[in-house]
Amino acid sequence: MERVYNFSAGPGVMPESVLEQAKKDLMNYGGCGMSVMEMTHRGKYFQDIFDNAKELFKNLLKVPDSHEILFLQGGATLQFAQIPMNLLCGGSADYAVTGNFSNKAAKEAKKYGSVSIAYTSEETGHDRIPSQAELKLSADAKYFYYCANNTIYGTEWQYVPQTGAPLVCDMSSDIMTREINVPDFGIIYAGAQKNMAPAGLTVVIVKKELAGNEMPCTPETMSYANMIKADSMLNTPPCWCIYMLSLMLEWVKEKGGVKAMDELKRQRSELIYSVLDNSSFYIPHAQKASRSFMNITFRTPNPELDTEFIREAEKRGLVNLKGHKITGGLRASLYNAMPLEGALELSNFMKEFEIRHV
Ligand code: PMP
Repeated sequence: MERVYNFSAGPGVMPESVLEQAKKDLMNYGGCGMSVMEMTHRGKYFQDIFDNAKELFKNLLKVPDSHEILFLQGGATLQFAQIPMNLLCGGSADYAVTGNFSNKAAKEAKKYGSVSIAYTSEETGHDRIPSQAELKLSADAKYFYYCANNTIYGTEWQYVPQTGAPLVCDMSSDIMTREINVPDFGIIYAGAQKNMAPAGLTVVIVKKELAGNEMPCTPETMSYANMIKADSMLNTPPCWCIYMLSLMLEWVKEKGGVKAMDELKRQRSELIYSVLDNSSFYIPHAQKASRSFMNITFRTPNPELDTEFIREAEKRGLVNLKGHKITGGLRASLYNAMPLEGALELSNFMKEFEIRHV
């Protein structure tokens, strides 16, 4: 069967060369006679994979020694609890609510301390990102929390907020798509299943000096300090995902690193946004200045046409364009592994569809 162009919001598309390499290694990794799925995480073969993945990650995002890279489990969602358990501890934190996931994170944090809503875009259907001036910052906040890219609504912060408190950022859907200055952040975390690896791995970058103050009830595996000490291997790590991460990061490096990913994402998204901007048919969700490079959200004039759009697109090998169930409508996710041709195919299809249905 031919491969399709997969616009899934996550788990997302992976490069064919990465999948081919995984296939090659599946039965006999590096001549050891078994697959990565079958080997002990305490052995040399896996340790080399782990070290390579960590080194690639460190180099690609220029992670300084002040910060530790952790390979954890529980999805990005577990971080909604792990962060306040380790950092909030009965104190107060500022949360910017710009979508479903930051809302969930703020709700979860309330179990461990008090939460002050620094901004919410709920009233306008989460169609925008606040300006720096709109953020209501508290003097006593232990941290400021935000979600860099709102996967469901298709909005993305195009600046790093200036706050007195350490920054905690959910980069699940836009990590590895831009250069970032890691020292600006206390914690960066990302579920890997969009731009980095299969589902099952969460990468967390923790400023080491913030670790070690967790609440006494914190489970052993949810203490950042414990995981830093054990180099993510307090228990069995998600070995296969870490191996896939190493292949993905090798691919990013070969392509020219995050700077090249940044250029490509602009080209891809421009192909789709230019269709939306030149159309009186499609209705974009996000305000222009808040648009995401990763997830493009829009709709046609009515839900029946949305369904028809999805049906016709599928026939052309353009799949997973249905919007999230919260928003309805349509969504095209353009992660790092989406070839430019995929975005071009979609933009051509959108233009044709408009002509036929306007
Ligand atoms: N944050 C963001 C920005 C997301 O897009 C998602 C879902 N994909 C999550 C958090 C939750 O991730 P997970 O399903 O890995 O818990």
